[in-house]
Amino acid sequence: MKRDYYEVLGVAKSASLDEIKSAYRKLAKKYHPDIAGQSKAAEEKFKELSEAYEVLSDQKKKGQYDQFGHEGLKNTFGTEGFGWSDFTHFTDIEDILGNVFGGGIFETFFGKRKGQRASRGADLRYDLEIELADVATGIERQIMVSRREICPACSGDGSEKGSNRKTCPSCNGKGETVQSAGFFSLRRSCSQCGGIGTIISNPCRSCRGSGAIEKKRQITVKIPAGIEDGMRIRMTGEGDGGERGGPPGDLYVVVRVRPHKLFLRDGDNLICNQPINFIQASLGGETEVPLIDGKKAHLKIPQGTQTHTVFRLRGNGLCHLHNSGKGDMLVRVIVVTPTKLSQEEKDLLIKFENLHGREEKGVIDKIKESFGL
Ligand SMILES: [Zn+2]
Ligand SMILES: [Zn+2]
Repeated sequence: MKRDYYEVLGVAKSASLDEIKSAYRKLAKKYHPDIAGQSKAAEEKFKELSEAYEVLSDQKKKGQYDQFGHEGLKNTFGTEGFGWSDFTHFTDIEDILGNVFGGGIFETFFGKRKGQRASRGADLRYDLEIELADVATGIERQIMVSRREICPACSGDGSEKGSNRKTCPSCNGKGETVQSAGFFSLRRSCSQCGGIGTIISNPCRSCRGSGAIEKKRQITVKIPAGIEDGMRIRMTGEGDGGERGGPPGDLYVVVRVRPHKLFLRDGDNLICNQPINFIQASLGGETEVPLIDGKKAHLKIPQGTQTHTVFRLRGNGLCHLHNSGKGDMLVRVIVVTPTKLSQEEKDLLIKFENLHGREEKGVIDKIKESFGL
């Protein structure tokens, strides 16, 4: 069960943006894993706080949350829920923690610091465009993703084969520098060696000493039927490789559904416009309606159908994403008035008007009456 965001931040529903921001700053300082310790619990707590802040600091997301609760953010955060790639306030964190520690320290948590600790590889994002017809069936796609992998020439060490690292001259191998200021002593990771204590004397020629190379890989993405535009699929472990034995990041495939020229999507339902002529509309008949799978359905048009009447073809929409069953196809018929008439056709219509005119006039008067005109 997800906790209420207001409860997480300890603010009232009526809290202003400033109050929300200050509550987040206070709690983030307390629970940031660099301060509270690198435990899973601290990490979860910090992530929960950041998720709440991400939502409540954004007017649009806050509105959706206030109205629909966690359910309202399903499309904002994708099927996997909130992840760090959804977080837009990294500068706030830098700001909060930078003031306390002089900067740089927050990166340990996000795996950017090149320190001694094993760090997780970065998450990657890939935008994949699919057709609406692919949504109907679900689809498997091959994508090429460029990601950082451990350099095979030096096994990620960064040193050319046969050469050794040397002690970092800046920190004398300690990996950090200590600054004293009154009561405080600030420890900082050594910037020259990145906290490792040694530096490369002879960089690897394949990776220029970085220990990683860019590599293109083909990845198969399974896109489930019913997926919505903007949803993300997480491919665990397909992001950048980790450093010093750390786990790889994840790859997020953001699915974009190209608009269809015939069908408009409304949740699981599809809407299409079907032109019919005024004779079909008057006398009734049958018309062929295109379906998303390329087949056609027969639609019965009842006698006396008005333009913009919507007919429902059950089960001809899209699959539900999370459960079985299908949406419907909503066919809106558009009665088309002929623009080019031959003299013979005109004569027939005049004859029709003379026959029908008086009666029709009565009908129109009734309609006008019912609208109070
Ligand atoms: Zn290398
Ligand atoms: Zn150093």
